[in-house]
Amino acid sequence: MINSTQLETFKLLLLARQAEMLELEKTGEDATKTVELDQACVGRLSRIDALQSQAMSVETMRRRQLQLSKIGTALQRIANNEFGFCLHCAEEIDYRRLEYDPAAALCIDCANKAEL
Ligand SMILES: [Zn+2]
Repeated sequence: MINSTQLETFKLLLLARQAEMLELEKTGEDATKTVELDQACVGRLSRIDALQSQAMSVETMRRRQLQLSKIGTALQRIANNEFGFCLHCAEEIDYRRLEYDPAAALCIDCANKAEL
């Protein structure tokens, strides 16, 4: 069972990650804009390169959005005293798993099944 000190640590960790990602999001958006502006003056091949790197940064942004929403949900679960329990089977999530990813919403068994 997670005690209140551990819970507070996870909360701070989640908030730090959230802040970090929101910061990265700003820079990511800038990079996408730069690609759009450059398109007019680059040749065809470099335009393909630019589009590819733009697609990559879109993918990175999409993943970041996903992670951000996971973090947001985890913070909400802390507020509701539901943190640390699997969303699927309601079993306690292994502490080491939470240490690795405090935003984990599923226990290791359910996560493995979900990924299959
Ligand atoms: Zn589970």
